[in-house]
Amino acid sequence: MITIDKFNFAGKKAFVRVDFNVPLDANFNITDDTRIRAALPTLKKILADGGSLIIGSHLGRPKGVEDKYSLKHILGHVSKLLGVDVQFASDCASDEAAMKAAALQPGEALLLENLRFYAEEEGKPRGLADNATDEEKAAAKKDIKAKQIEFTKQLASYADVYVNDAFGTAHRAHASTALIADYFDAEHKMFGYLMQKEIDAVDKIMQDTARPFTAIIGGSKVSSKIIIIKNLLTKVDNLIIGGGMAFTFEKANGGKIGSSLCEDDMLNEAKEIMAIAKEKNVKLVIASDARIADSFSNDANVQIVKANEIPDGWSGLDIGTEGEKEFAEVIKASKTILWNGPVGVFEFDNFAHGSKAVADAIVDATKHGAFSLIGGGDSVACINKFGYANDVSYVSTGGGALLEFIEGKVLPGIKAIRGY
Ligand code: AMP
Repeated sequence: MITIDKFNFAGKKAFVRVDFNVPLDANFNITDDTRIRAALPTLKKILADGGSLIIGSHLGRPKGVEDKYSLKHILGHVSKLLGVDVQFASDCASDEAAMKAAALQPGEALLLENLRFYAEEEGKPRGLADNATDEEKAAAKKDIKAKQIEFTKQLASYADVYVNDAFGTAHRAHASTALIADYFDAEHKMFGYLMQKEIDAVDKIMQDTARPFTAIIGGSKVSSKIIIIKNLLTKVDNLIIGGGMAFTFEKANGGKIGSSLCEDDMLNEAKEIMAIAKEKNVKLVIASDARIADSFSNDANVQIVKANEIPDGWSGLDIGTEGEKEFAEVIKASKTILWNGPVGVFEFDNFAHGSKAVADAIVDATKHGAFSLIGGGDSVACINKFGYANDVSYVSTGGGALLEFIEGKVLPGIKAIRGY
């Protein structure tokens, strides 16, 4: 497999799949351009080599052509950040796009309109009636799959080289994220810098693990984290469980959890996780106390009580001060750390203490040589809220993709390039 830093793009046209799925306000101003900036090293390297760029991305979840999801809204900003006047193709799979791509000179760039304006990108039929029969559904699926091949070929025809730098969509087998790679030989397809960094970070914690390895899994629901927890139990030395989901474990152990978040249909899963942890000698850490509130609000009345003795009418919205110490002690003694999901309702300052304590301990461990990876939307928001993004080893940009990668799944966008 070739790597982007070894490839000379001089005179080559590169189709670069990026994730420019940025948030826009009502006037189409970009409110957070992190994702665009994250792709700049790849895009700039290609231009600096004397290559030209065909940039493809999705924006939002359009059901067809929808002006509010047009990439024309971000064209000016992309031009500004890239430092070149980026051209625009108002239909990503058209003669216009093909002509503009063919006319690109070294150092020039073309942004394609939203790839998801075409159902072919995702390869899922659109506009099927609710009462469609199974036969109609199957026919529509077959039809879109056939059209998807043509769409993919069209995109591939614009370029000599394919570069995937969209980690956020690496878990999707879409035309531009995975299928397109088949139209380029091994010497002409590669990961961009961002994608490579993400893969390296996950490989470092999952394959090349310095021990002890501690995972902190928080957030609201056990059900959404069950697969990742089970996969991690085969890898980690310590598993810290925090956030709303910890109360399902407390209840499974016979604790009183008041009105705390609980998934009763997950009680058996929680018991099974505890049994597997025991069998595999994984230290499962659940906070011994909780910061409880009499309403779901920052201004609620607060008490700190034992996590298994929460009075009726109160709910645990954060770990307590003992829990902070328990978590910090384990984290600080670790050499590899993965954090996914806040351990309390960190959006309320009064219930952000636990997540802050976790973040502090991770920063401390990182200073002492641990490798720390923060991933999954809310823990990234947490790290940013505390201003620690530069004090940990790696902050992932991929929510769902990162989780699936850590769950041990093969991601189509990665497999398409490196074969596994
Ligand atoms: P998730 O998307 O599953 O990672 O969950 C993140 C959300 O879990 C955040 O919005 C937190 O506010 C929420 N959360 C964390 N701890 C608790 C808790 N003890 N009770 C209710 N929600 C929580």
